Amino acid sequence: MSIKPARTRVAPSPTGHMHLGTARTALYCYLLAKKTGGQFLLRIEDTDLSRTVPGAEQEIMDGLRWLGLQYDEGPDVGGAYGPYRQTDRREIYQAHAKILVNSGHAYPCFCAPDRLEKVRQEQMKRKENPRYDGTCRNLDPEEAARRVASGENHIVRFKMPQEGSTTAHDHLRGDIVTENKQLNDYVLLKTDGLPTYHLAAMVDDHEMGITHVIRGSEWLGTFPLHVNVVRAFGWDEPIWIHLSVFLKPSGKGKMSKRDTATAMKDGYSIFVKDMGELGFTPEGVLNWCALMGWGVAEDDVMTLDQMVERFSIDSLTPSPAAVNFQKLDHFNATHIRLFTTADLAARLKPYFTREGFNVDDDVLLKIIPLIRERLVTLDDCISFGGFFFKDEVTPAAEDLVAKGLDAKQSAEVARRAYQILAAQPDVSHEKCEPPLRAYVEESGLSANQVFGILRVAVTGQKVSPPLFESMEIIGREKCLQRMQNAIGVLERM
Ligand code: GLU
Repeated sequence: MSIKPARTRVAPSPTGHMHLGTARTALYCYLLAKKTGGQFLLRIEDTDLSRTVPGAEQEIMDGLRWLGLQYDEGPDVGGAYGPYRQTDRREIYQAHAKILVNSGHAYPCFCAPDRLEKVRQEQMKRKENPRYDGTCRNLDPEEAARRVASGENHIVRFKMPQEGSTTAHDHLRGDIVTENKQLNDYVLLKTDGLPTYHLAAMVDDHEMGITHVIRGSEWLGTFPLHVNVVRAFGWDEPIWIHLSVFLKPSGKGKMSKRDTATAMKDGYSIFVKDMGELGFTPEGVLNWCALMGWGVAEDDVMTLDQMVERFSIDSLTPSPAAVNFQKLDHFNATHIRLFTTADLAARLKPYFTREGFNVDDDVLLKIIPLIRERLVTLDDCISFGGFFFKDEVTPAAEDLVAKGLDAKQSAEVARRAYQILAAQPDVSHEKCEPPLRAYVEESGLSANQVFGILRVAVTGQKVSPPLFESMEIIGREKCLQRMQNAIGVLERM
């Protein structure tokens, strides 16, 4: 059976930082488009000028690229269905509003905002859902047209059917039936001549040939309106998919500003722009996002290509997903282990550089096998591997003192270890381990005590990758120098 190529779009509003939810929507849109040989679009929905934040559009484009979700059409790449920024499409919406007015599906409304506010207040007092009271709905169309032509301030409202009910079909949730009398005459065109989402998105999805509208479940409330608008134009409906909401890590309630702040404090974020800085990889983030709303059985570690292969809109789930940052750690660490050595080296280099280390590429390649298994985030490379790029290390004096020994005894161990190392032509495992082990035996100390002093002396830290492999990379000369330095520190204690 051949599948029809899907055209999908992610349509964020540039009103703030790009959120994980947008990343997840974009991912599903991308997967469906690639799976079916179709196209994935970026459309910028910027018709609410008061909420537009400078730089947000660029952040969205950068975020999608960082994730590896390159769109086939969009504001900065063009395409046959552009423009892809809604403020560049005003005339299109105005023309479409006119079509609905002329066909009797919409009408101009001249009501003053302060009167509407009063009506709203009264409705709220009566505990009714605030809705337009219909004053302009029944104006004589010719009279209304004259007032519009004379330049009177107005908006355009959708004339929602008042009888019967609307059945809207969501691919994940089935038929959703709403009594039309519960629906409002929503605004389609505002006084500034710009459309609301309800008009703009419907027009664009049609004009851009979108086959599947994948969006957040916050749009379920106005979903009946949207299908009515599409039907009023006489267009075919796309397949509608409303994704699940994200819940806070505890699973109780939606993520709040406070939860976001807590996440940041713990080294996590819900904004795509922070992810790289925090040491997360696009692969880890995508894998994590993918599974918040997509039920994948068995092996759930997937690259983007594997996701394309396995994706199906039928396995998306409408149940809410708790944002679990431990899972992000898990996927990130897992993907780090899958990268080739050269790839991981290239990804780690900026983190070392950011900390001011002068990175020798040969050394970097050599340390990858030693630190890879220890990394959860890429920036963990600093704590596990920073000492490889230092000229000198400055271990804390108390760390050099082995458990159960005092400074003097530890200095003696360090001196003996130094002599043993200095007597060898290199600091390889084969050469150094046997004589050091022999020393452990004869001294009656434990391996932990001896190797612990050695480790702190040459790496400057108590936790490090395997000692001998590390020493080999550091090199004989530097190791001996660091040992000497440590002996000095211990002797001065
Ligand atoms: N601009 C809308 C938003 O940011 C897009 C919703 C949609 O995908 O249709 O929520």
